[in-house]
Parts: sequence; C-alpha cells; structure tokens
Amino acid sequence: MTTASYQASSPRTKTYREKIEGRLQVAKVNGGAAAAEPRGNGRYTVEGRAGARYTVWALNAETFFCDCKAGTTSGTPCWHAAAAFLRIVADSAAAQVTA
Ligand SMILES: [Zn+2]
Repeated sequence: MTTASYQASSPRTKTYREKIEGRLQVAKVNGGAAAAEPRGNGRYTVEGRAGARYTVWALNAETFFCDCKAGTTSGTPCWHAAAAFLRIVADSAAAQVTA
C-alpha cells in the first residue's frame, strides 16, 4: 500500500509539491480526471498503463492510499493517486458550479 499526501496549503512542502506536479503531469497524460473512476466511499479505480487496475482510497482531498507498488520508497505519490486527486478537484469544481 502506498501512502500519498497532498499538502497544497503548506509552504514547507515545495520540493514535495514539485514531485507531485510530476505525477500530476503523468496523470494528465494518462487521461487526467477521467482516468479515475469513482467507486463511492472515497474509492477510485485507476487503470494502469499495463492494463492493471488499482484502487485508490481518498481519505480526504490531500491524503491518498493506492494499492500499487510505485512510489513506496520515496514517498512520492503515484500517478494513480494523482489521477484521483484530479478527479476530486474536477468533481468539486462541478459541484460548486451546480450549487
Ligand atoms: Zn498507484
């Protein structure tokens, strides 16, 4: 299980955010928000490039778990988690439009 934490509001995580931005770029290349399929209860299914499907759990908008093996050594979020993050941002933006 991979732990990925997004701390968008903290000024002390610039380097970490730069890593996240790299993952976000990969997520965008692989379909962006649409790559993460909502499963309810904060769960998202993301299909990897090799056809494997991974489950991402979003504890909140900043903290994710993914069951893939990427990013476990550096703590850098995998792109699956980044895709779920993009989906949450997109869904929350849509919710604000309709509210
Ligand atoms: Zn992953």
